[in-house]
Amino acid sequence: MQIDRTIFHPDYKQEPYWWEAARPGTEYAVDLPKETEIFIIGSGYSGLSAALELAREGRDVSVVDALAFGEAASSRNGGGVSAGVNIGKGISGGPGQANRSESLLNGLLSESAAAFEFVRTLIDREGIECHFEKRGRFVGAVTPEHFEGMKKKADSLNQAIQVDAKIVPKSEQRREIGSDFYHGGMTIERAGKLHPALYHKGLLDACHRAGVKLTAHGKVERIDGSVGKFRLQTEKGECRAEQVIVATNGYTSNLTPKLRRRIVPISSQIIATEELPEDVARELIPNGRTISESPRVTSYYRLLPGDRRVMYGGRARFENVHPDVSAALLYQMMTDRWPQLKGVRITHSWSGFVAMTVDALPHMGQEDGLHYCTGCNGSGVAMMTYLGRQVARRILQDGQPVSAYESFELPKVPVPFYTGNPWFLPIIGNYYRYLDSRERRRAGL
Ligand SMILES: Cc1cc2nc3c(=O)[nH]c(=O)nc-3n(C[C@H](O)[C@H](O)[C@H](O)COP(=O)(O)OP(=O)(O)OC[C@H]3O[C@@H](n4cnc5c(N)ncnc54)[C@H](O)[C@@H]3O)c2cc1C
Repeated sequence: MQIDRTIFHPDYKQEPYWWEAARPGTEYAVDLPKETEIFIIGSGYSGLSAALELAREGRDVSVVDALAFGEAASSRNGGGVSAGVNIGKGISGGPGQANRSESLLNGLLSESAAAFEFVRTLIDREGIECHFEKRGRFVGAVTPEHFEGMKKKADSLNQAIQVDAKIVPKSEQRREIGSDFYHGGMTIERAGKLHPALYHKGLLDACHRAGVKLTAHGKVERIDGSVGKFRLQTEKGECRAEQVIVATNGYTSNLTPKLRRRIVPISSQIIATEELPEDVARELIPNGRTISESPRVTSYYRLLPGDRRVMYGGRARFENVHPDVSAALLYQMMTDRWPQLKGVRITHSWSGFVAMTVDALPHMGQEDGLHYCTGCNGSGVAMMTYLGRQVARRILQDGQPVSAYESFELPKVPVPFYTGNPWFLPIIGNYYRYLDSRERRRAGL
């Protein structure tokens, strides 16, 4: 692919913009203990949230990560904080939804809304300075037909979890976004945004204060034993533990083959722009909301803290690609929506992995004695923080059920011989893009 290099700022970096304020590191790291009561694999939001809950209840907890603390999705994401809107996607007919009872779906939705409130409270309680703002979300409809569908969806979301969703006709769209790309959309008031790496740092600080033992660059290579007597072999030595929590989401490996076979890791890519003139920036998203949209291959974007730079994310490709390639593709998508940004330069381009599940839902539970939560499906700032805490509550309550998200099976990926290598992603990505563009063509767009 031929890339126009003029889109890159002279200070362009192939790493997250967020790391300028909070680079993942090894502050607080200690040697791997020889034994611990609860061993947590993964230091992202879910691992740290579980650790914090357990340590506050006086349990002896160790978190071990293969990388620096939070170096994976939890310091790379878009920082959009949602409350059940994506779970709502399942209601409108995701695979595996047909047989679910209405009360289970309501349970899933209301817990997802609770996840949003949980994160707000946690940020407050731990005094985390991470630019959290409850400014709502605008979801753009890419065809008039999608806009019609949104009316029904707004009603069902309002009924189920009172997210305060409102329909915005195209004639009023410029109140929400300085673009004519969409055919109307909806706003959702119960949604927000934060600085993901500062949020992660705040959780890490809180874990340290609560006495959690934290070990970085200690990839777990093997797990033997069973509940009460696990043995974990890591790059930093061996540790014995009574309980183990797997909090590896999109970075799940063959260490836990059963989990790996049930999730599909998908790359999500983001760019950030240089600072824009104040008047240009103000007109882009007048109410400071996060933006998402209706097609299968979707984008998510927002203004960065300070409201002068744009962050634009999406699935430029489903598989991992070079950051320059994803930057060029995302730049095209961004300027399709905001032609006024042509000529603005990119300062950062990066990516990370999310875990998708066949039923498009996150899950928690216990497999071979190992506790887990996984399957953020691209939306885990609130949800994975919440599920990490719920996994901890389940341990504290001696295995009593604590969440609707543990009440149904994590489905297998229906691809013969799938062991975790998603070779089929480029095919699916191209197929979804074809369906999206066919819908737009049929709508005469
Ligand atoms: C580019 C991008 C944009 C996103 N945007 C949003 C958004 O706007 N809003 C939203 O809600 N969500 C978003 N998400 C999703 C969100 O970031 C994730 O759901 C969330 O961070 C998952 O947290 P986690 O702790 O479960 O996993 P992670 O943060 O991915 O942490 C998993 C950890 O497990 C460790 N690990 C794996 N294997 C081992 C091993 N063998 N030994 C030791 N450690 C191991 C990894 O090193 C990693 O640190 C986005 C994700 C990406 C990648």
